[in-house]
Amino acid sequence: MTGTVYLVGSGPGDPELLTVRAARLIDEADVVLHDKLPGPEIIEDIPEGKREDVGKRAGGERTPQSEINQRLVDLAEEGNDVVRLKGGDPFVFGRGGEEMEYLADHGVPVEVVPGITSAVGAAGVGGIPVTHRDYASSVSFVTGHEDPTKAESAVDWQALADTGGTIVVLMGVGKLPDYTRALREAGMDPETPVALVERGTWPEMRVATGTLDTVVDARDERGIEPPAITVIGDVAAVRDRVVEFLRGRGSGRNGGDGRSGGDDA
Ligand code: SAH
Repeated sequence: MTGTVYLVGSGPGDPELLTVRAARLIDEADVVLHDKLPGPEIIEDIPEGKREDVGKRAGGERTPQSEINQRLVDLAEEGNDVVRLKGGDPFVFGRGGEEMEYLADHGVPVEVVPGITSAVGAAGVGGIPVTHRDYASSVSFVTGHEDPTKAESAVDWQALADTGGTIVVLMGVGKLPDYTRALREAGMDPETPVALVERGTWPEMRVATGTLDTVVDARDERGIEPPAITVIGDVAAVRDRVVEFLRGRGSGRNGGDGRSGGDDA
């Protein structure tokens, strides 16, 4: 009998932020297919015998999506119940939609298990509310992966600048100089607060803050690396006003460089 594939969001990385259903399905699954994004704490908790890393191939390049899709179908057709574990929420820049369609096209039963997206959760633990009655009544999630100077860029930075709402950029560490410039050129105030949150909710979580003008320097000074989100808008400055009273992994209490050492010692 064909097994079921569960498209499961792991949340931003802290195992305590897995949903109850995600934890149970991981426990009961025959196989768990994952990449690196759920984070070492969650991945290393899964018995080695049933987890399969489909993030990178031996040569270091990314496993083609078509290969992952087919692996899911093959495993299910062999009768396995499969958890396809994805960082954050499976449908926020996670290719979960493509996988769900492929599975349905091939007659494989599929269940979607939402997770806390890093776009909201990584910001939140860092003391950044993505909306706020005083500062932002809308929020946009965008990919920073594209070249903003490309004429046919799928992200309309001008329109985003015009909304006045919060902008959360995923996959946007490398191209930070490009889209912060694009937003300034679109008329956004160069003093607009910006925060980078790296590995939100992981023990190694780090935060760098600045403005549209200064955040690239802040990134370089802190050595911020992926995975990180970029939060652009007045809400990004809220952290500075509450950080002294923030507890938990977003607090940055261990060391003044914004590096948080996990649970407060
Ligand atoms: N489905 C995921 C996003 C996948 S795209 C989600 O809902 O969170 C990969 C991007 O997610 C990374 O480049 C980074 O921008 C972001 N990301 C994922 N986990 C993160 C974390 N713990 N802290 C900060 N950013 C994270």
